[in-house]
Amino acid sequence: MERVYDCIVLGAGGAGTSAAYHLARRGRRVLLLDQFAVPHDRGSSHGHSRIFRLAYDHPDYVHLAQHALDRWRELEEVSGQTLLTLTGGLDLGPGALPGLRAVEESLRGAGAQVETLDAGALMRRFPQWRVPGDWAAVYSPDAGIVNPTQTVELLAALARSEGATVLEHTPALDLDLGDPRAPVVRTPRGTFACRRLIVAAGAWLPHLVPELTPTLRVTLETTAFFRVRDLAAFLPGRFPVFIQHARVGEAEVYGFPAFGLPGVKIAEHLQGPATTAETRSFEVDGATLARLGAYLERHLPGAAGPVMQARTCLYTTTPTQDFLLDTHDAVVPGGSPSVLLASPCSGHGFKFVPALGELMADWADGVTHPLHFGRFRAGRARNTLTSAGS
Ligand SMILES: Cc1cc2nc3c(=O)[nH]c(=O)nc-3n(C[C@H](O)[C@H](O)[C@H](O)COP(=O)(O)OP(=O)(O)OC[C@H]3O[C@@H](n4cnc5c(N)ncnc54)[C@H](O)[C@@H]3O)c2cc1C
Repeated sequence: MERVYDCIVLGAGGAGTSAAYHLARRGRRVLLLDQFAVPHDRGSSHGHSRIFRLAYDHPDYVHLAQHALDRWRELEEVSGQTLLTLTGGLDLGPGALPGLRAVEESLRGAGAQVETLDAGALMRRFPQWRVPGDWAAVYSPDAGIVNPTQTVELLAALARSEGATVLEHTPALDLDLGDPRAPVVRTPRGTFACRRLIVAAGAWLPHLVPELTPTLRVTLETTAFFRVRDLAAFLPGRFPVFIQHARVGEAEVYGFPAFGLPGVKIAEHLQGPATTAETRSFEVDGATLARLGAYLERHLPGAAGPVMQARTCLYTTTPTQDFLLDTHDAVVPGGSPSVLLASPCSGHGFKFVPALGELMADWADGVTHPLHFGRFRAGRARNTLTSAGS
């Protein structure tokens, strides 16, 4: 055995780097390991942009996002970097959709600022949009963009500065969870034991814990940047991030102002084919690009230029689209209570990264964070599907 840690964090994406940083700054002996370089582009935490928003249809997520907003600002102070660019955010779509009303109600309930716009008011305020007369929008000023590649790089650097050991290119080959007081991780660079193990392995979780295979669905999602005609009209100060809610059977579409590249980035939520982290391709789906282009022609004609860049990314989704943050023994009969299985993805986890690291660090310290909701339990993750994209 090489060394015993207070906590090993397996997986250095957004979730793992944040947990490692929070634990290291509390003075815990932490090992953070990843099979690839940190950051890399084979999981879920890479690229220029993720939507930050308070606008959720359930108060739990609004409260968690409000907490995360404070934590993003704290991280900016610590690092001297801009991490969250506020652009405002639009939830829009056919006005009769209950999801839109639920977003408005939960924002108001949490004391957040919110405005509702009918189709005419939306197009006067944001003339980039063309929408049918029966559409409506909920506008929240507390929405914007965070950068996953920058954040992962930064959190790993901060974790190192606080004394964490970060091992890149170090795959966990297997886990020995037989002794509940000392989980063990075997890697090609040695075998490591700890008091608490956090498995934040993203789309690789079902491989490490096969009992999760029925609960976690991995899909290959496509995002694309399209060249805009008038760049000024699509800059962050003029064009808010958006989520277009859809009727049952239609795709929810979300997008960003020109950020990272001089074009609009858009994508469909949870429409990609099922895959696994081990067998996935990196091929961009041409049919998806064609649908995204047609969407822009219809609703944002000023952004319907040629594709500038298209990429794939893995979603790991529970049936309820809630996160999974529960112990191994809640998933595996007779399993270890000293291991936390962390899958905060379902296509909408990045905005919460600084808050989720704190929740996981609390778990490792034997404390339950007040925002570690019952909806993150494994039992609930086996339930029915709702909507909560980006
Ligand atoms: C296309 C797309 C769009 C998204 N849009 C948004 C958005 O707008 N807003 C938002 O809030 N969220 C969004 N998300 C979700 C967000 O990006 C994820 O919630 C977040 O990145 C999940 O991070 P993670 O750390 O759980 O997983 P990952 O980033 O995948 O990290 C898991 C890590 O574990 C490592 N690992 C796995 N197995 C092993 C092993 N055996 N040994 C060592 N290391 C291992 C992997 O190499 C990887 O680095 C989006 C996701 C995608 C894919």
